[in-house]
Amino acid sequence: MAKYVAEPFKIKMVETVKMTTREERIEKLKAANYNVFGLSSDDVYIDLLTDSGTGAMSDKQWAGMMIGDESYAGARGYKKLQSAVEDIFGYKYMQPVHQGRAAEQVLLPCLLKKGQICISNMHFDTTRGHVGLLGAIPTDIVVPEAADTFNYAPFKGNMDIERLEAKIQEVGQENVGLIIMTITNNSAGGQPVSMANMKATYEIAKKYGITLILDAARYAENAHFIKSREEGYADKSIKEITREMFGYASAFTMSAKKDAIVNMGGLIGVKDNEALYTMVKGWTIPYEGFVTYGGLNGRDIEALAIGLYEGLEEDFLRYRIGQMEYLGDCLRERNIPFQFPVGGHAVFLDAKQILPHIPYYQFPGQALACELYIEAGIRSCDIGSYLLDLDPVTGKQQQSEMEFTRLAVPRRTYTQAHLDVVVEALEKIMERRDQIKGYEIVWQPPVLRHFTAKLKPVE
Ligand SMILES: *Cc1c(COP(=O)(O)O)cnc(C)c1O
Repeated sequence: MAKYVAEPFKIKMVETVKMTTREERIEKLKAANYNVFGLSSDDVYIDLLTDSGTGAMSDKQWAGMMIGDESYAGARGYKKLQSAVEDIFGYKYMQPVHQGRAAEQVLLPCLLKKGQICISNMHFDTTRGHVGLLGAIPTDIVVPEAADTFNYAPFKGNMDIERLEAKIQEVGQENVGLIIMTITNNSAGGQPVSMANMKATYEIAKKYGITLILDAARYAENAHFIKSREEGYADKSIKEITREMFGYASAFTMSAKKDAIVNMGGLIGVKDNEALYTMVKGWTIPYEGFVTYGGLNGRDIEALAIGLYEGLEEDFLRYRIGQMEYLGDCLRERNIPFQFPVGGHAVFLDAKQILPHIPYYQFPGQALACELYIEAGIRSCDIGSYLLDLDPVTGKQQQSEMEFTRLAVPRRTYTQAHLDVVVEALEKIMERRDQIKGYEIVWQPPVLRHFTAKLKPVE
């Protein structure tokens, strides 16, 4: 029987959510053109659209908001954040920015040139976008286990070291501008990267004189997986593990809206390269604002400095990952297929297996997301062929290797009973899955269509 790790906190403030009827939800979904991004959050009961910026801040973070210093230059919070970054990650320099993609916008042009290749275990969408905007070529080299949703592997987020080295030799080291290690590997389903893999990747980067940076949004969840799954780390603290992970890189970008549990914020860290840090400061000013606030309110910086530590708390992480494992175990007991084992922030339902009669061009992941909403007011999203834009050259629908429906769980927000509602809804959907229809797109923009496209059920 699936076991739930009880919350290491109690609740001080609540936010009411509206209950709707099935008939109302059918109408709302139709009015939203069968696009979950078109729904009002007021019409959603359990919102698992994303874990980004949707977590609940602690009383200490809220208290920090009250003492935030809103000075334009030299604000107190900046120093506090600087000392947190140095203490946790061991990096000498840091730059706050307003979110993860802003960190990419500022840092990547300092490291990557037009025509160069950028290698990652897997680029997150916005990272891929920024690499493309620079005229560089993003290449993903994740281990093959990532595509096997059924069998257990402890570190499905790893870089494929052999293929990495072969790629560098094939294209020539001077043509590889950058290596980005994404922890955890979001696009592979929040799957972790092992310490051994981070170290081996860093050694290859050094051997060929290539800069390696971390895309570190889920630094703490990755550290927890290393502690619980990798030999030699069980007795190390999460903070020690984090420090070691960040040692295997020269810089990092971070969306603080994930493991640092703030609603808005981002960070750039530079280990010791002063010239790089000077460049980062230079670009921050036109894009984000003066260096000591970097596009954030003083109160946001205060909450971030506190959240960086709270994300690392071991009792919190045991509960946090425990929630994901509970959800995964409940699904396994009912033979509902998903990417196994669960990732740190989300469960990826295998919509290709759940709805085998729906072809990729009728979007099984999207169809399952629509059913979850109709069944119980649960908002999830497609991570499959619907997410892929049309091929820019042929104009044809591209086929994704996997068809997932993602259940991303916000931090410190939902209870065991909420997760049970999700499991029950999926059980009901499984019973009537043969009757579920696919979707077709009736309107779409040229890029990033999944946010705004209009769909209708296939007759
Ligand atoms: C969320 C995320 C980003 C982008 O961060 P934003 O704060 O949404 O701009 C980049 N990389 C990874 C791995 C992420 O999860």
